[in-house]
Amino acid sequence: MKLTKTFMTMLTAGMLALSTQAIAQDKGTIGISMPTKSSARWIADGDNMVKVFTELGYGTDLQYAEDDIPNQLAQIENMVTKGVKVLVIAAIDGTTLSAILQQAHDSGVKVIAYDRLIRDSANVDYYATFDNFQVGVLQAGSIVDGLGLKDGKGPFNIELFGGSPDDNNAFFFYDGAMSVLQPYIDSKKLVVQSGQMGMDKVGTLRWDGAVAQARMDNLLSAYYGDKRVDAVLSPYDGLSIGILSSLKGVGYGSADQPMPIVSGQDAEVPSIKSMIAGEQYSTVFKDTRELAKVTANMVDALLAGKEVPVNDTKTYDNGVKVVPSYLLKPVSVGRDNWEEILIGSGYYTKDQITN
Ligand code: BGC
Repeated sequence: MKLTKTFMTMLTAGMLALSTQAIAQDKGTIGISMPTKSSARWIADGDNMVKVFTELGYGTDLQYAEDDIPNQLAQIENMVTKGVKVLVIAAIDGTTLSAILQQAHDSGVKVIAYDRLIRDSANVDYYATFDNFQVGVLQAGSIVDGLGLKDGKGPFNIELFGGSPDDNNAFFFYDGAMSVLQPYIDSKKLVVQSGQMGMDKVGTLRWDGAVAQARMDNLLSAYYGDKRVDAVLSPYDGLSIGILSSLKGVGYGSADQPMPIVSGQDAEVPSIKSMIAGEQYSTVFKDTRELAKVTANMVDALLAGKEVPVNDTKTYDNGVKVVPSYLLKPVSVGRDNWEEILIGSGYYTKDQITN
């Protein structure tokens, strides 16, 4: 009798587990379209999303477009044809998706803009991202600290780099940074020797490190023959590494010619290593695990017809509508706190950084 009872309990538990799985699979597939694998952050984003969506009982179709716009369009079109319920898209060029999103909308597919805003389309339901203006504020803040500007030091020479002009975020990063730097430029405590300011002059198409390196080479030879550059605003670690290699090429990074203060973003491993080696000065950590969770919760609420969690309904106008957004907090990381923030939170293991 006892045996039978135990057996029955096990059977019921097994059936329950089976049916939960079946229901879970019934939740449908989420199409995840990521821009490129050339930067570690997007790989982490994709992996984290697959993990949380799977935990919530969804299937996933994760695709990377290797920074090729037609490739991303074809991948998204394919997802729509295959019948995904929701598209989660980090766009390569935020202005090129209107036609495919119309098609998605007509097929009843919901759309979440992931990290980067999708512009010029009414068919963007929600936006999950970080406070992008604040990212720029943090980058510039680390430059202010690193130079000692608040202690009245200066004047210093600075050069400015922006992100990709087809990425809406790039303008937020730049504007955030300039909200901090402009007063010092106005008071001549910071001098842009090249005079190159504004996203039209300092943007770096497709966030390409080689392009940033080439521009830094040109700046150094044209404007810094007999002057020292003291700081470089860089909006992304991949650009910072290119900029640093250009600086090293003309002798920066030695005792009598120390590295300028160079900022960054994404807390990528090569940049953390560079910080430990005394080269890159700072980066901005954006926890992609959190962004994946926020996105999955949005999707889950949306599909269940529940209220979708957002915390900003004013900032992100995509040219057609203000897209309701959830903004996460970015964190400034430097030589003093990288270990606490990145290892302490389990984002990296110590081995990944020290090996
Ligand atoms: C992201 C940044 C990233 C950059 C380059 C931006 O849209 O917000 O985290 O550094 O793209 O990939």
